[in-house]
Amino acid sequence: MNDPTHRDTFLQGRTALVTGSTSGIGLAIATALAAAGSKVAINGLGTPEQVASAIATVDAAGNGGTRHFGADLRDADAIAAMMADLAAWSNGGIDILVNNAGIQHAVPLHEMPVSRWNDIIAVNLSSAFHTMRAAMPAMAARGYGRVVNIASVHGLVASKDKAPYVASKFGIVGLSKVAALEYAAQGSRDSGGITVNCVCPGWVETPLIEPQIEARMAGGSRDDGVRALLAEKQPSLRMSLPAEIAALAVFLCRREAHNITGASLPVDGGWTAQ
Ligand code: NAD
Repeated sequence: MNDPTHRDTFLQGRTALVTGSTSGIGLAIATALAAAGSKVAINGLGTPEQVASAIATVDAAGNGGTRHFGADLRDADAIAAMMADLAAWSNGGIDILVNNAGIQHAVPLHEMPVSRWNDIIAVNLSSAFHTMRAAMPAMAARGYGRVVNIASVHGLVASKDKAPYVASKFGIVGLSKVAALEYAAQGSRDSGGITVNCVCPGWVETPLIEPQIEARMAGGSRDDGVRALLAEKQPSLRMSLPAEIAALAVFLCRREAHNITGASLPVDGGWTAQ
């Protein structure tokens, strides 16, 4: 806190990649990091208009300079190329890595197409391995780095009809713990250290869960579908908003979070307390 106004300037000028940030939780995290003063690289699929709109949203929150990196996260070579471009863009390597991109397909195990299994594991789990492998050595060299992996309550407990999704989310919880241990002693309290954590949301209001809301409308309204969804598992009976998940992600990047590592933090209205 060298700022005479006592504003927390710790995240100013840091560089961040948020995967899957053309929509939903990722866009909210990218926006919140920009608002905290970081320079943000966004990634994700979408039309040119959606990408331009996401860049404009993130730019408006911060100091500008937001760039979109369009790698399809199912493709390890595309991720490697993106990480090489990012190393140049960030002058040696990003400070903050948020693995947020995720996809879902809810059907019973025996009906799950093999191609869906492969895509969900690739986007929700393997992409985080590839980005962390590329980004973490430079973090260690600087003594500051943050990896925030957006897992899910489904990284802590299972639900039926979600075999690849639950497998990918349990996987990213394990991956994060290993990386947290390997990098735990790097850096210092002053530099901020290197931490790796998972955020484990319950239901969050984003396009990802619309098919599951629709499946529960039973001829009624969307609100009926939302109520039915929440009543099944989320005791607060309230959805989270993307900005609320983003606030926790930004906190994990701050200096005072230097000793929170290897954690999987539920934001689930009591779902996993049951
Ligand atoms: P969303 O559908 O709004 O956004 C997903 C993002 O991932 C988009 O930007 C999309 O373009 C990107 N993406 C998808 N496939 C990609 C690919 N092959 N390559 C690159 N980018 C790709 O979803 P969301 O709800 O914001 O989900 C974000 C994360 O939060 C996911 O990991 C999801 O599993 C997790 N999550 C969501 C909820 C929820 O209730 N919405 C709950 C728990 C966890």
